[in-house]
Parts: sequence; structure tokens; C-alpha cells
Amino acid sequence: MCTFHSEDYIKHLKSVVPQVYSEKAHNEAQELIKHKPHNLGDSDCPIFPGIFELSEISTGGSLDAAIMLNHKMTDLCINWAGGLHHAKKDESSGFCFVNDIVIAIIELLKYHNRVLYIDIDVHHGDGVEEAFYTTNRVMTVSFHRYGEGFFPGTGDLMDIGCGEGKFFSLNVPLKPFVNDEQFTEIFRSVMTKVREHYRPDAVVLQCGADSLAGDKLGTHNTTIKGHGECVRFVKSWGLPLLILGGGGYTIKNVARCWAYETGLSVNYNKLDNNLPVNDFYEFYGPEYTLHFKPSEAQSQNSKEYLDFLKARCFQHLQAMEHAPNVGIQDYVPRDFFSVESIEARQIQKQSHAQEADVEDGAIEFQRTKSLQRQQTTGGRETAAQIFGDSGILEGFIRRDPDYYDDENDGTDLALVRQASDRASQRSSANPENETDRDAYEERKY
Ligand SMILES: [Zn+2]
Repeated sequence: MCTFHSEDYIKHLKSVVPQVYSEKAHNEAQELIKHKPHNLGDSDCPIFPGIFELSEISTGGSLDAAIMLNHKMTDLCINWAGGLHHAKKDESSGFCFVNDIVIAIIELLKYHNRVLYIDIDVHHGDGVEEAFYTTNRVMTVSFHRYGEGFFPGTGDLMDIGCGEGKFFSLNVPLKPFVNDEQFTEIFRSVMTKVREHYRPDAVVLQCGADSLAGDKLGTHNTTIKGHGECVRFVKSWGLPLLILGGGGYTIKNVARCWAYETGLSVNYNKLDNNLPVNDFYEFYGPEYTLHFKPSEAQSQNSKEYLDFLKARCFQHLQAMEHAPNVGIQDYVPRDFFSVESIEARQIQKQSHAQEADVEDGAIEFQRTKSLQRQQTTGGRETAAQIFGDSGILEGFIRRDPDYYDDENDGTDLALVRQASDRASQRSSANPENETDRDAYEERKY
């Protein structure tokens, strides 16, 4: 964490919640938070038990992902628990404590000349922009709502970086209720030019889901189709890609969006619009569908305004040095974690999950493990394991199993079949575990 953050801040974050409760520890902690040092204890950055552990999990996931991409262990990683773009070197901000993105990008820079960071959260990616504002090794591009006091208040069109980083920060400030058509059009136009000019070696895409219609804090009017189009478009470049989460305050739509985008990431675009029955099924009523409609609100982004934004962005790109290079260096800083340690952890997790499968409570355990794996690993094969184990995709995989096995080598299919078999054994052992939607509906009414 201290590759980016100050030691003083990380030490404070670690000690602000006592590990063991005692009167003395409580009083010390109260003293620590009294003046809200490092912005901790503020209403946007509350202190809670597990605050440091959460930061470790989130950051560790992105860091592992960067190392896996560096060593070509995969070409795509997802960490939905990452993407905490507001955290600064010396302070927390906007629900973000540790900036996993900056830390992952620093790791990527050990093996990549130029890293492109793209941010589609409704809020400006200020922490990441600030960290790389003076360098041309990282280009940051943020599409966000801007103006009228909207948090964090930065991300003006004319904020373009400085020093060697001049023109390597790009901001696309949007007005309320931007719709799918407008959002995808400006995203594709700007990002096509950015790619041409900057020629990145690796890409980090922050997919904050507060840029969806109906978000409690956001003001966009996009659906998961428009949001997901950004993921599909960037993935189509075929560059090493790290996909991260971020904001999102209408929780059921965050789940819809990231499930859909995980599907897109593994080239699966046939997700059934009817949601499979799951423990949280009731939250998705009354439609119980994957997709949802935007609101009736009219976009305040006129065609003239969006054309103006695009024209100005293109001007900035024209002025930018084309694909800047770093001199050849003999010394590559060592990896933060060794590749062997990442592999060993993966094997350990898999064997734990298998052990748990024969025990009572296997489903719950598998869910936890799947989440942990999601945080630390990525790529298509791992996605098969995640989905298979958690049962999320069992329904469609059974209907169309061959589609899923991209390389036709049976690896993915075998994993998925194992998971399906386990699920059907559980279902036959316990009739309450039916996964059929109609059966659920019948029971309900
Ligand atoms: Zn946000």
C-alpha cells in the first residue's frame, strides 16, 4: 500500500479500529479519530470494524491481477472489489480508503511502457488522475458528471495534466441524464482516438456502476447495455485488460451490471433476461429480469454540447506527444508478489473449495470462496470456476454447454459440469433447492 500511500496514513488506517476490544483500546481509538486525521471518520469515509482487512482484500486483488497480466498468466482480470478511485496518497475520500488502482498501475508499469486508465464511474476518477498527473507513462481518461457541486468537483474539460504529463489526462464532463446512445457514441469516438494516439500496452477500466439510470447518487440515464458496451469495446482491442468495480448505490443494479459485464468479459452474451432463482431473488422484483429500463428524464446533454466536448478532446489529443516511449532499462523492479505465491494461493483455494463441497453448508462456503477468487484472479477459466461454483450460471450452461468451451479442449466444460453435477445432487437431496423459475413462482403464489 505504501508504494503509493504515505506510511503515516496506512499506519493510521491499520490502527484506527482496535483488534481486541478493551476500555484502553477504545479510548485510544477515540483519541485517534477525534480530529479526523487523513479524512478518516468523515461521513463519506466512516470507520468500521474490518476497514483495514477490506482494504487489503480490495488492493490485493488488483495487485495480483496486475502481476498475472505482467506475466501473461491471463489476458484479462476482473476485481469487482477494486476500483476505489478517490483515495489519495495521504487521505481517504468518497468511500475509498486505499487506491488499489494506482497500486495496480504502478505494478503494471514494471512491464508495460504505457498504461491507459479509463474511468466510467459517474464521479471523476480524481485519485488516479492526481497520482499520474505529471507523467506520460499513464494516460487517464474519465467520463463523469461534472458541475453544480457534484462530488468530487474536479474533472474539468481543461484539466489535462502538467509537466511531462501535459495532455495525458483527459476529462469528459457530462451533464445530467446522459442516455445509452449518447454515452456509447462519445465513449467510442473519444477512446478510438485515444488508442490511436497513445497506443497503450495495457488498459485498466474502472466500471463504477453508479453511472447507471436510477442510481441513488448518480445522475446518468444509461442501462447496463450502454455501460456494458464500454467493456465490450475496450475488450475488443485485445490488449491486456484489468477490469475493476467502483461506485454503485442502487445495489440490485450493480449486481445486474457486473454480472452482465462478467458475461461480456468471457465472451458470453447470451445471458437469460429472466434471472435464475437465488437467495436474493426478491430484491429484483417486480420484473425479476437482468435488464431494466432507463427513466423518462430528458438528457441535458445537447448534440452541440457533446460535439463540442469531442472536438476539444480531439484537440488535446492532437497536441499530445504520440505514443511516448521510456528508455530501455536494465533494471526491472521486483514483483510485489512472486508468481509462485499467486499460483500456490490459487491451488490452496481450489482444494479448500473441494473439501467444503462434501460438508454441510457447502453452498455458503463456496459462495465465500468464489468471491475471494473473484478478487484475486481473472480470465475465462477462472470465471468458469467462479460461475460454476456459485451456481449463478448453471441454468444457461446446462442449456448450451458447448458454447462456453471456447478452446474446445474440455477444460472449461469439465469445470462447469462438475459444478452442475454438484448442484443437481444438492437439488435431489433437498427439494427446497429447486433452481427452476416456474417451480419457484408456483410456490410463491
Ligand atoms: Zn462513483
